[in-house]
Amino acid sequence: MSTPAALTNLLDFDRDSLRQWFVAHGHSAFRGDQLLKWIYHQQVTDFAAMTNLGKDLRDWLQVNAVVAPPQIVSEQQSTDGTVKWLFDVGTGNAIETVFIPEPSRGTLCVSSQVGCALNCSFCATGAQGFNRNLSTAEIIGQVWQAANRLGHQRNGTRRITNIVMMGMGEPLLNMSALLPALRLMCEDLAFGLAGRRVTVSTAGLVPAIDTLADSVDVSLAVSLHAADDDLRNELVPLNRKYPTAQLLDACARYSRGRVKRTVTYEYTMIDGVNDQIQHARKLITLLRRVPGKINLIPFNPFPGTRYRCSSETAIAKFQQQLMAADFIATVRRTRGQDIDAACGQLAGDFMDRTSRRQRIQMQVAV
Ligand code: SAH
Repeated sequence: MSTPAALTNLLDFDRDSLRQWFVAHGHSAFRGDQLLKWIYHQQVTDFAAMTNLGKDLRDWLQVNAVVAPPQIVSEQQSTDGTVKWLFDVGTGNAIETVFIPEPSRGTLCVSSQVGCALNCSFCATGAQGFNRNLSTAEIIGQVWQAANRLGHQRNGTRRITNIVMMGMGEPLLNMSALLPALRLMCEDLAFGLAGRRVTVSTAGLVPAIDTLADSVDVSLAVSLHAADDDLRNELVPLNRKYPTAQLLDACARYSRGRVKRTVTYEYTMIDGVNDQIQHARKLITLLRRVPGKINLIPFNPFPGTRYRCSSETAIAKFQQQLMAADFIATVRRTRGQDIDAACGQLAGDFMDRTSRRQRIQMQVAV
């Protein structure tokens, strides 16, 4: 939703910056904490309803600020209970967010960019191109809207127990908007999730992994998909800039000193491309150095792709080989495929504003 220029969208602030904003306008920092509770615990966006603020402050907020999450364009529910929302983020752009309920948890998959510039050869978002970064308000606003629609915390039940930055976009290419959003996910006065329940997934931006490690305490997932550079260059072109050896060094630095912060390696299983016994062997050798969990993702097809998903037998064999080498290897169950909500299927609705050449330049510039 577009916000009139004069109004400050309070969803853009983490706790510290909201407190500072109040102080900068002559109010007590504590007002920031009160506002957070109204917005995130009570799901109230109308200042007039914030009864523990004085009338003057409520009137002042009404004139100067707004609580404006992106508006829902559509909500679809899969036969397996997965929910997908399409959000309007202005000028004809739309992004997607997915909720995946399981018996013991509920995971929200959140987008960080309108499209993606990284052009991974097996990903629908990449195939659509890139438009722009999302703001903090647009990132945390997806969580706010999902929480609202799901009745999160109503009757004391938390529907969203985990958040994964695995929707559209490369989160680490949007660090300045991402960090405040991650802080709000973990902030007690906002969503209050434990850091290990908030996961940032990256295609492997080495310097940004270090920045993330220094800034917040969340979990890291790395989209590996291949254990050797030739194949990874083909699947994840960013590998040409940050090859696997450098990436694994960054993963080792990330886990260091963090209890329960083993990195998760994501590995999409693509028929005949990366799913053979020799690929598993290479992966075992590579990950001996920097151990972590391995999450095998059955490839999800999308229109125009040249790839197919590995057979169930190939996936099971691959998994068994990793487990025989003492790795924890899980297979991600495909969810929400009937509503195009599965991994790599999120495409939203937007105009690509980059030529292929520009996209490659953007990667090199990072
Ligand atoms: N840019 C980030 C986060 C978005 S993708 C990243 O690369 O990690 C979330 C996960 O889905 C990544 O591991 C990604 O590689 C995987 N993925 C992308 N396309 C896929 C597809 N078609 N099938 C299965 N997994 C896919």
